[in-house]
Amino acid sequence: MTNTRIQNCPLCGKDRLRSLAPCAGGPIELCEACRLIFRNPPPDDEQLSRSYQKLYYPDDEGEVIYDATPKELLVQYADRLADRIGPFSKKRILDVGCGNGTFGALLTARGARVYGVEFDDVARARITTFQAYKTVNAVPDGKFDLIALIEVVEHMRIPWEEMAQLRARLTPGGWSLVTTPSLDGLRAQLQGSRWDQAENPTHLHLFSEETLTAVLSRAGFRTIERLRLAYDYPGHGGMRRRLNRILTRLGLDGHLQMFAR
Ligand SMILES: [Zn+2]
Repeated sequence: MTNTRIQNCPLCGKDRLRSLAPCAGGPIELCEACRLIFRNPPPDDEQLSRSYQKLYYPDDEGEVIYDATPKELLVQYADRLADRIGPFSKKRILDVGCGNGTFGALLTARGARVYGVEFDDVARARITTFQAYKTVNAVPDGKFDLIALIEVVEHMRIPWEEMAQLRARLTPGGWSLVTTPSLDGLRAQLQGSRWDQAENPTHLHLFSEETLTAVLSRAGFRTIERLRLAYDYPGHGGMRRRLNRILTRLGLDGHLQMFAR
């Protein structure tokens, strides 16, 4: 097991990397030039697959530590997306990191033609309402009106390369929706290296609006906008919902959502 520390920022190439406070998810560094925060040295494939197994897909009686995005939230995503891109009927949508297919099933029920990508065999086998593939390369030829990546980009090894590949599969008017935990959020700011999203060892990058914009721009996206949509989280009472709306307006909520093409 040899993990080599990266000497230059993988995004901007400068050598102004600084270690941040020790983190339970593995060492993280900040590029003082472009502000990218990433796991350095990055875990190797074996370590990563052990972490996924342990945290997301325990094979024994182990408890799932990081759960999938709740369905109540995905319904709100679908509603907001429809406000934005129009009715789903006949739209071709690619859901990258589709898990066991909850979001794709919702979109399928609204008339979209959904394709999914999910690396985990167990999750993928549970999908019944649309076709899902193990990798993006395995998805049959064809372009998409929407490519959704919900809490996926932080898991990518080289996000600008993977996003560039996906961008090539958008129709001329197509959009990509990219959501990720927000480093600009109040919780991340207060908790630093103890932020639960930083402690998740499968998160190889942690993004702010600034750095995710830089990643998407390097991937070739030309129109990049942050969506400031507040969602009602299941289990949150009225007070927390109101607070979340205020934080969202200020860009201090925990949820970074970008729309790009
Ligand atoms: Zn940099």
